[in-house]
Amino acid sequence: MQTPRPFSTHRRAVARLGLLALAAAWVFPAAVSAQIPKAEALVSGGALIPEQACYDVQHYDLALTIHPDDERIEGTLTMRAGIVAETRRVALDLYRTLRVEAVERVATDGEAIPQTFERSDDGLRVFVQLDERLEPGASLTLRVRYAGAPRRAVQPPWDGGFSWERTRDGEPWIATSCQGEGADLWWPVKDHPSDEPDSMDMHFTAPADLVCASNGVLRSVEETEVDGEPFKTWHWHVANPINVYCVTLNLGPYVVIEDTYESVDGTKIPIYFWALPKNEKKARRVLPDFLEHLRFFEEVCGPYPFRNEKYGVVETPFLGMEHQTAIAYGNGYRKFQFDYDWLHHHELSHEWWGNLVTCSDWKDMWIHEGIGTYTQSLWIERTHGAEGYQASIRGLARQIANRRPIAPRETTDSQEIYFGKTGSVPDNDIYNKGALAMHTLRWLLGDETFFAALRRMAYPDPALEKVTDGSQCRHEDTEGIRAIAEKVSGRDLSWFFEVYLRHGALPELIEKRDGAKLELSWKAPGVEVFPMPVEVEIDGERRRVEMPEGRTTVELPSADADVTVDPDYWLILRR
Ligand SMILES: [Zn+2]
Repeated sequence: MQTPRPFSTHRRAVARLGLLALAAAWVFPAAVSAQIPKAEALVSGGALIPEQACYDVQHYDLALTIHPDDERIEGTLTMRAGIVAETRRVALDLYRTLRVEAVERVATDGEAIPQTFERSDDGLRVFVQLDERLEPGASLTLRVRYAGAPRRAVQPPWDGGFSWERTRDGEPWIATSCQGEGADLWWPVKDHPSDEPDSMDMHFTAPADLVCASNGVLRSVEETEVDGEPFKTWHWHVANPINVYCVTLNLGPYVVIEDTYESVDGTKIPIYFWALPKNEKKARRVLPDFLEHLRFFEEVCGPYPFRNEKYGVVETPFLGMEHQTAIAYGNGYRKFQFDYDWLHHHELSHEWWGNLVTCSDWKDMWIHEGIGTYTQSLWIERTHGAEGYQASIRGLARQIANRRPIAPRETTDSQEIYFGKTGSVPDNDIYNKGALAMHTLRWLLGDETFFAALRRMAYPDPALEKVTDGSQCRHEDTEGIRAIAEKVSGRDLSWFFEVYLRHGALPELIEKRDGAKLELSWKAPGVEVFPMPVEVEIDGERRRVEMPEGRTTVELPSADADVTVDPDYWLILRR
């Protein structure tokens, strides 16, 4: 996901940066010590209200005209949904500065019937009183006309909205970000991760000298006129389900670098890199590295999920975000520790962990951030060997806070999962501890089984690796990830997920040395027995010690044998 709002101190900016980056935790020291002030409490997800639970979105069509000079938009959102529970009233989310001008229901014969509507007291919802009661199985098409100034991004991408920036030459450079707050910052939407439209169309109308980059495939560009000025309408079509916070609008004086990439399955995938003109050379220089990242992910996690569309990178005025097929990139074309662009790698990981596999409740967000972050360690292992891998793991281990479960059982909204409950100290455990859980799972299962399981976590069935009709995408939760790991390994892993995902506290390995005997026993939160094997180095020799009962005694060659427990940091434990 996300850069700096007028936070007064650099330290705090670094803390926020952590959010997404924590991927590169060893690059950004853990300065997460202060409570993060948000400009206002805006969330996505959480408990669904009946007026939203009653329908399932099939399609959004968003037609939006953008006026950079006075930083306003005007648009029409048409939503087609299936009714799943009887209702006379439905709700859409929309930020309070955007005025709703009209809501119509489009009948099956095309007739537009005006509907009455009201805003919630906090101005963040639009309740529509339908002209008739709808039964399950019915179809509902609503058209909402709205206009105004969308929320201005405060510290994108962590505190998002519209970024109305200018390039050094003074040309408009506009981008959206809304992961934590939701897409309702700029368009009317059912702002919940459980409901992705099956497909979407965007018609962005903007001054003719700007280039528009967005998700999916560019269907057409048409010249038009707005208030006597030359504008263009860019029609983007998304043929796959899309998490609504990933829907993106980017406008700027971009140059478009095009390439073709051959997927592991032979598909030729169009590649687009929208860069500011002054950075064209840099963009051309880094693109081969970016495509190597793509190759890596295809090899480890399965084919790139959106081969029927494109892979796109868009230079943005903020750090980054996993916008599907058009990832936001603002990392300055630099390589960091381990000689790679961690930001690109991290955002690209979300095409699998976030966009192909999406949590339906933010409580399971570790699947996006934790598994995504772990793939960075895997990349470092590939490029820097076991030593690099271990260094990255130790870097992550130094960052974990262990104050709360990374996968709470209760419904959780987008802010709480990242920042904790109001007033609590934020941490980045869904990134770092999520990654470490994968690392320890690898130790438990062994490489062959672990990597097979990782691939099935992305694509539960090998047949899904072959399709690109949208059915490859799915919602997933922590139990689903556990079920896949259990199926592939043939073992019960409930204890593993219970301890590492469902509890904040770490297990403890109690070591007792009595002459030539080493007693090892686990004490873990939430389980009676924690049967985690332990690697022990005895006089320079490594041994895997199984502990089916959660305890064991190791006979040592002598009372003065030199013993190191877990020399390679395979285990997340209290140290
Ligand atoms: Zn991320």
